[in-house]
Amino acid sequence: MKKEYLLGLDVGGTKIECALIKMTNGKSEESLSVSTSKFGNQFAIILDRQRIPTNRQAGYPSVMQNISTLCKDILQKTNLNIDQVMGIGMGVPGAIHPTKQIMLNGNTGIFINQNIAFDLQQLLKTEIPIHLENDANLFALSEVLCGAGQNFANHTGKKPYHQTAIGIILGTGVGGGIVINENILRGTNGGGGEIGHTVLYYDGHPCYCGQNGCAEQYLSGPSLEAQFATRIYNDISKRPNSREIFELYSKKEPQAMASIIQYKKHLVRFLTNLTNIFDPDYFVLGGGVSTQHIIYENLSEELTSKIFIKNSHPQVLKNVLGDSSGVIGAAILPLISKD
Ligand SMILES: [Zn+2]
Repeated sequence: MKKEYLLGLDVGGTKIECALIKMTNGKSEESLSVSTSKFGNQFAIILDRQRIPTNRQAGYPSVMQNISTLCKDILQKTNLNIDQVMGIGMGVPGAIHPTKQIMLNGNTGIFINQNIAFDLQQLLKTEIPIHLENDANLFALSEVLCGAGQNFANHTGKKPYHQTAIGIILGTGVGGGIVINENILRGTNGGGGEIGHTVLYYDGHPCYCGQNGCAEQYLSGPSLEAQFATRIYNDISKRPNSREIFELYSKKEPQAMASIIQYKKHLVRFLTNLTNIFDPDYFVLGGGVSTQHIIYENLSEELTSKIFIKNSHPQVLKNVLGDSSGVIGAAILPLISKD
C-alpha cells in the first residue's frame, strides 16, 4: 500500500494543532510545494486541520489522550485509518534529544523527560513512526523545504534540500533553527540552534539563562518594548507594544525611529555573527517583528559590509508559511527521516 498521508502536530503551551496532509505528484491550486532529497519535488494538500487548547494543567496523561483523540477525529473525518499514514511528526516547545527523542527543557514542563512518541503510539495502537522535533527547528525546516526556500530555489536554481539556511523567530523570545542540506543541526544533545542565547554585547543586559548580553535580550519583541520605554520614561503609562512602535516609526516619531534604528543595529550584528559561522544562503525571519517590512530595508547591504568573507551575500527573507509553519514542518518530518 502506498502511503501518501502525513499527520503533523504542533504542540504549544496554549494550543495544539493537527493537520492531515496528502502528498501528490501533481500540482493544484491549493497545494504547497515540498522538496526533499528522498522524494524530489512533490506537492502537499492540507486535507484538514484542527486546533484544541493544550489544557496542560490537566496533566501529561490527559493532554496525550487529547492529542490521540485529535488524531483519531481528523482521520475518521476523512475516512482514513492510521495505517494509511506514512508517519506522524510532532513539534514541541523544547529541545529534543536527537537519539532519545525526549524533550529536555522548555516552559511546558509536563512534556519534559516523557516518552511522548512511544506513548502516542500506544494510545493510537500503531507502530507507524512518530518523530519529535523542536518547534523553532520546524519553523526553519518548513520554510526551507516548502516556503522561503522554494522561492529561493526559483530565483537561484539551488534546490531546497541543498540549501543552507537559518530560521530566526523574533517573537516573545528569540528562537532559531539551522538547516543544512535538509538536515536540522541538532548537535549532540539537541541544543543546537539556540542562537537566541549567543552573546551580542559583552556584559550586556542580564538574561534568564545566566549569561549577560544574549541576543534575545536585544531582539525579542519585549526587549524592543523595554528599550522604547526607557526613552519615554516621563510618559511610561502609554508604553506601546512592538507593533505600535513600528507604527510610530512609520509616522516618523523620533523616539520610535531611534529605537528601530538601534534594533536593526543589533539585528545586523546578530546576523553577521551567524554568517561568519554558517555562511547561509539566506536567513528566514518569523515571529511578530518579522511582519514589519522596515526590518528588511537595506539589511542585506549592511550585512554584506560587515561579514568577513565579502563574497557571502546572505539574503534576509520573510517567512512564507506564517502560522502554518509549525504544523507543516511537523508533518514533513517523516519525509526526511533517515530510518
Ligand atoms: Zn540568554
